[in-house]
Amino acid sequence: MLEVRRLTKRFGHVVAVEDFTLAVPEGEVLALLGPSGCGKTTVLRIVAGLERPDAGRVILAGRDATDWPPEKRGVGLVFQSYALFPHLSVGANVAYGLRFRRGDRKGRVRELLALVGLARYERRKPHQLSAGQQQRVALARALAPEPRVLLLDEPLSALDAALRKDLRAELRALLGKLGMTALYVTHDQEEALALADRVAVMREGRLEQVAPPEELYSRPKTPFVASFLGRANLWPGRVVSVDGDRAFVEVAGERIPAERGECREGDEVFLFFRPEWVEVGEGLFTAEVESAEYLGDRWELRARFCDLPLVLITGQDPRSSGTLPFAIPTARTIHQQ
Ligand code: ATP
Repeated sequence: MLEVRRLTKRFGHVVAVEDFTLAVPEGEVLALLGPSGCGKTTVLRIVAGLERPDAGRVILAGRDATDWPPEKRGVGLVFQSYALFPHLSVGANVAYGLRFRRGDRKGRVRELLALVGLARYERRKPHQLSAGQQQRVALARALAPEPRVLLLDEPLSALDAALRKDLRAELRALLGKLGMTALYVTHDQEEALALADRVAVMREGRLEQVAPPEELYSRPKTPFVASFLGRANLWPGRVVSVDGDRAFVEVAGERIPAERGECREGDEVFLFFRPEWVEVGEGLFTAEVESAEYLGDRWELRARFCDLPLVLITGQDPRSSGTLPFAIPTARTIHQQ
C-alpha cells in the first residue's frame, strides 16, 4: 500500500534521511522508531507530500506519488499537537476532514465520533475537552475522508502516562478494526512494541532493522537495536567454533554457547542476552553483585563477570550475598560493526 524507495533528504549539511527503503503492506501498522533527530518525521513528511525528497520515490497503492500534491495522496495525518480549530465545534472539526466530499456529511461525522467514543460531544468546543478527547477528535478528522494510509507523528506524546497507555490500546484496536494501513512515528520503544505489527528502527537517517516486535526484541541484528529496545547484555567475543545452529563464543576466557545467527568461525561478535534470560542460582559462572534495585515483583541487579558488566533479573532478594552463581541458557550473536 505504501512504499518508499531509496529516499534521501538533506537540509543544508544535515543528512536527515539517507537511502531509506521500506514497504508497508495493506492493513499493517508499522512503527518508525528511533532517537530524536534520526529522521522519522522527515520520512513521514515526505510520504505526506509536505517535503520533497532529494532522491528516491514514494509509491502509494502501486502508483508513483512522488510528485503529487498532499491533497491528492489520500493520506490522513495526526500530529502530536491536535491542531484542531478552536472556534469550531467538535462536529465541525471532523466535518472539515470531509470538505472535499459530497453526500451525507452529518451522518458520517456522527459515525466517526461514535467510532472514537465521542458520540455525545458533537457540539462542544475543543477547549471543553480533555487532552485525550481532543486527540480522538483529531483522529476522527484524519479518518473522515477514508484515507488509504494514516500517518501518525507521536500522537500520544503530549498525554500523561496513564492516558497514553489507555489510548494506545484503543488506537491499536481501532486501527485493527478498520484494517487501516498506518505509519506511526514514535521515539517510545514500549509504544512501538505494543502498538505495531512491525517496527522499523532508524538511526542517523538510515534503517537499522525492520521486524515484528518480538523478533526485534529477541533477535536484534545490531548492537544499537539491541540496546535501544530495552536492557541488553552485550559482551565482546570471538566465535571459536560453530556446530549446526550453535556457535561457541569465547568471552573472558570462557566458551559460551549461543544461537549462531549469521556468524562464522573467527568472527568478532557480541554475545547478546537480555537480563531476564539469565538463570540465577545455579550454573558455571559467578557474578559479583554491585547494586540491586527492587522493582516490586523482581530485583534488577548490576553485577560483574570477570571485567564485564552484567545486568540480570531475579525474583530472590539478592542482598544476602555478594556473589551469585548464574547461567546463560539463551544467548545470540550480533556482529561487531
Ligand atoms: P524527533 O523525534 O526529535 O522529532 P526525528 O527523528 O523526527 O526527531 P527529524 O525531525 O526528521 O527527526 O529530523 C532529522 C534531522 O533533520 C535533524 O537533524 C533535524 O534537525 C533536521 N531537520 C529536520 N527538518 C529540518 C528543516 N526544515 N530544516 C533544517 N533541518 C531540519
